[in-house]
Amino acid sequence: MKIIRLDAWMYSLPLSEPYTIAYETVTQAENIFLRLATDSGIVGCGCAAPDEKITGETASQVLDVLRERVPPLFVGADPLLITRLLESIGTQLADNPSARAAVDMALYDILGKAAGLPLWQILGGYRDSIRTSITIGIQSVDSTVEKARKWVGQGFTSLKIKGGVDVEEDVERVLKVREAVGPEIELRFDANQGFSVQQSIAFVESTASAELELLEQPVPRNQLEALENVTSRVSIPVMADESLMSLRDAFRLARGEMVDMVNIKLMKVGGIFEALQINSVARSAGLESMVGCMDEAGLAIAAGLHFALSRPNVHYADLDGHLDLLNDPTRDAVILHNGTLYPTGKPGIGFDLSDL
Ligand code: MG
Repeated sequence: MKIIRLDAWMYSLPLSEPYTIAYETVTQAENIFLRLATDSGIVGCGCAAPDEKITGETASQVLDVLRERVPPLFVGADPLLITRLLESIGTQLADNPSARAAVDMALYDILGKAAGLPLWQILGGYRDSIRTSITIGIQSVDSTVEKARKWVGQGFTSLKIKGGVDVEEDVERVLKVREAVGPEIELRFDANQGFSVQQSIAFVESTASAELELLEQPVPRNQLEALENVTSRVSIPVMADESLMSLRDAFRLARGEMVDMVNIKLMKVGGIFEALQINSVARSAGLESMVGCMDEAGLAIAAGLHFALSRPNVHYADLDGHLDLLNDPTRDAVILHNGTLYPTGKPGIGFDLSDL
């Protein structure tokens, strides 16, 4: 089998309502879709969801990379030599992790389609579905509580509350949500780098009665000593998100016992191949993994889901980015039922962009 053509195009996905976290407010997401056509008729599909603050890329840079720099290396190559092809772009596209993720996804999609099997089974096959949390961006206490009630009413049993701008209000938000949803719902909190060590400790102490499941990325991404400090001083598990961008970061965080958990996002790390390696490092250090996402279309969510379904130490999924997007043409690439995500059951990632 040979790759004969790459098509990449940008798609604007407005959010159903503005989404605020500690360092930005998002109203619209630009995703780039990728199709890798082969001479066998199989077409691999991928998606990039760059976020300049995190992945360091703009959408037009990703589009340029996929249109100009990847084709000369890929056209004529055997798409089943996944590792070799990814190695060939690893250095050149070092600063374009979401572009690499789109390529990686499309190659794995071809593998699954060629084998006639859903990707999660090829990657290892551990579970056939996973519960996902749903995220509530920063908003007033009242509207946070209202959103929490709404999501629980729709069957979600795990909520992720965003904060990191105002500790006192964060505490109030968490306590009020716990009061509203009752003791059975799992609550997670993500400060998106917004706290200091002292604020993190105060926050965890003040919210003890809410029994938070975990505290995600309390301090700025490069302040690893502070991260380690928080981890050793609070009573709940601490998770690295923005501090984990690569396999090397995973090793550093694991070796230094700086966190209890890691949030692996395909767009940050460059795709499934890298995610599997990072997850192995996490497992070697006894760290639990969560698969997270950006503001990304259903197709990219599906790729994250296949990875999550293939590994036993991926205990958590936070794969809800597509739910905020209006007019996502790939929304049906995953099936959501009562807060649990299922793949479509079709080969590969399970969705064909050529159906659009
Ligand atoms: Mg996060």
